[in-house]
Amino acid sequence: MTMSERATRAKAAVDIVTAFFGRMQAVVDDPDALDFTFGNPHELALRGLTDAMRAQLEPRSVDWFAYKTSERVAQETIAAGLRTELAVDFEPDDIAMTQGAFGALSLAFALLADAGDEVVIPVPGWFCYEPMLHAANLAPVRALLAPDTFDLDIDAIAQAITPRTRLVVVNSPANPTGRVYSADTWRALADVLEQASRTHGRRIWLVSDEPYRRIRFDGIGFASPVAHYPWTVIDYSYGKVLLAPGQRLGYLALSPLIPAAERDELRAALMPLGLAIGWGFPDAVMQYSVPALESVTLDMAELARKRDRLFGALVDAGVDVTRPEGTFYLWGRAPGGDAAAFCDALDARGVHVMPGTLFDQPHHFRMSLTATMETIERAIPLLTAIAAEFSSTER
Ligand code: PLP
Repeated sequence: MTMSERATRAKAAVDIVTAFFGRMQAVVDDPDALDFTFGNPHELALRGLTDAMRAQLEPRSVDWFAYKTSERVAQETIAAGLRTELAVDFEPDDIAMTQGAFGALSLAFALLADAGDEVVIPVPGWFCYEPMLHAANLAPVRALLAPDTFDLDIDAIAQAITPRTRLVVVNSPANPTGRVYSADTWRALADVLEQASRTHGRRIWLVSDEPYRRIRFDGIGFASPVAHYPWTVIDYSYGKVLLAPGQRLGYLALSPLIPAAERDELRAALMPLGLAIGWGFPDAVMQYSVPALESVTLDMAELARKRDRLFGALVDAGVDVTRPEGTFYLWGRAPGGDAAAFCDALDARGVHVMPGTLFDQPHHFRMSLTATMETIERAIPLLTAIAAEFSSTER
């Protein structure tokens, strides 16, 4: 075999997604396609984003485009923002700038886990945790969310923990379910992690994957586990709130509540590890743009209108959908129970949604609300008709 074993495992874990991605390339090029698949932009970029980047494009010094680690102005802006948002005392040195949440997760894995360590991940959850963990030579262990509500199932996490567990990954607002978890959930999880760390004589770290943190509906508050479990790192991406995942910008934030000795050790490792994972720092222009980008966001009022319209239409069509509290995804149970068949039937009528099989959930489907309102309006009659067809044949 040519490839490394970890490459083989990583590829196998994401083959279903890359195959779907490949199939959907034809859709991207078809102006008539009603595309609800990936969380990509369907309109031109936000003016605030392009203005911010343009303002930083012209070099002001000879080192404008020199090698960049974490730029101080970005770290300071982010630490101040986190202090306000999460009411926890972050400092600039707790922040490592990364290529989006992808980069921040890679950094967290390199910083905290050793080859063969187990990492508990939520299912259904983002389909890149598993391949990333395999590529890092770590072992993903799945913990199912609560059926129907998709709440975090603390008992399932407790059962998934073994003496080899090093990390637990949580994600709120959650992809694909749109659920936002409460402080009570984090308190219960913190108790379990503290207890398990003691039992096994080994600290279990929490990775809070928060790229959708600012994308929430109905004024619902945000609680981060960082306030409840000191051994927490947060990964964030600007790609979601700016609807520009091709402009890589994010960070890893160490909890200021980590005990001082460990916090100092990790702080000192952020830059060397950023280098060691392959110069994982964002490009210069993106880092300089952070102060201006802090206040730029996709149109949340419009996103809420799209959620309400599509959610309402699917409920009217008799589809069992989870009302999104955050993210720009809508998660539903496929009428008839066979997501692949339901999605194929929609595909044939030009409506493209993501089958739950990509999330290991063969009865569900996900739709991205980044589609335009016009696309949503055109798709609703087709969704309604096909849902009616499939509802009559529960499989
Ligand atoms: N985490 C979750 C839950 C995601 O859904 C995504 C992207 O889809 C990421 C992390 C990675 O975000 P980015 O591509 O902005 O780095």
